[in-house]
Amino acid sequence: MSGTVAGVEPRYFSEFRCIGAECENTCCGGWGIVLDQATFGRLRGSPDPTIAATAGHYLVPLPGGTPKRFGVIGLDQTLTCPFLAADRLCRIQRRLGETALPAVCDNFPRNCKVVDGVARRSLSLSCPEAARRILLDPSAMMFSERLYPEDGLRVDEELSGSGLPEHHLPMQQLAFEIALTQERPLEERLLLLGRLAELSQGCVDRGEAVGPMLDAFRQAMDDGRLGIREPAPAEVARQQAGLLQLLVHGELLEQATPDASIEALNPYFAAYHHELRDELESAGADLAGRLQDGYRRYFLPYLEENAQVGVNLVLHWIYHEQFPHQRDGNLFEACARFLFRYFYLRAYLSLLARRRGGIDDALVIGVAHSLSRFLEHNEQLFPQAAAVLEGHGFSSRRQYAELPMALA
Ligand code: SF4
Repeated sequence: MSGTVAGVEPRYFSEFRCIGAECENTCCGGWGIVLDQATFGRLRGSPDPTIAATAGHYLVPLPGGTPKRFGVIGLDQTLTCPFLAADRLCRIQRRLGETALPAVCDNFPRNCKVVDGVARRSLSLSCPEAARRILLDPSAMMFSERLYPEDGLRVDEELSGSGLPEHHLPMQQLAFEIALTQERPLEERLLLLGRLAELSQGCVDRGEAVGPMLDAFRQAMDDGRLGIREPAPAEVARQQAGLLQLLVHGELLEQATPDASIEALNPYFAAYHHELRDELESAGADLAGRLQDGYRRYFLPYLEENAQVGVNLVLHWIYHEQFPHQRDGNLFEACARFLFRYFYLRAYLSLLARRRGGIDDALVIGVAHSLSRFLEHNEQLFPQAAAVLEGHGFSSRRQYAELPMALA
């Protein structure tokens, strides 16, 4: 008989429902769904002739495939899943029922990480409906305890034993506390998170325990001794140049997608991207000024009026990624990736809001989810960005940690 697994889930997870054909940016495009061997065989041998014919044409075995990652659903000429019907509903689900869906389709945008035996369920920000739940609901990050049937729980990653250092949970707790420090502006909290990650990785590099540093960090924060360093003007100018180069003409994004255009991979994001390019082209040397203007006139007031958007963005990242967990073990990189993502989101929203003369929830959700999907599908973008930034003086962890302050 199957047992149960103890777990937690935030309110955004419990309340999420896929909106199917109503979705403005369906997840059935731009990426090939990976299939296990059983699903691959079931679709190819389906008694439904439409499903079997589509599967025969589009299902491709992966070279060196394993039973779990056996094949992939190739995309059609419009880079959309060939099973998506003209009415934007899934043919597999309609003709064979929900149980016939490949695991990825059935599961997206859901995610489950088991940390020391406790299931932590979450949603990806790459789904627009999930992004609305996560960012707009002030109580989205309220957690409930749950008991899940063991045989019904799909686990994406298990973190325990040697894979989980003893500072994991204390550091995560401190990160949550920093994110919730209401008396500090959001970007100051991001700066503290960057500093925390920088110092923690320093301990790891020197072979020292992280725990005592966490205690000292919390104490310094409580005593008001953790101030914000004012970078020198020349340093700021260098950082600005590097950051702006990441934006200008979107070269970096286009390099990240050498095999297909951004339009084809992510048409929803491409619409924002092209609008941004027009703004960049007309800005010329005034780009830094426009970015600051958009930030101060639109982005910052929006965040002040909708405080839960910024706080939930950070809390969701800590929880969803299980910060400070990082597959390659580098504590600082886990944070740097998020700061980099935040920089892009802020830059797009500040410039688009300035161009449109306003910012609203629809723009925030549109850019947040489609940018998240773009970055999720282009893992190489971060190392490429890091190389560009290094050429502009981002040579230390400290400078990365201060990324949220530049251009603010
Ligand atoms: S992106 Fe989200 S809401 Fe849209 S179809 Fe996929 S799961 Fe449903």
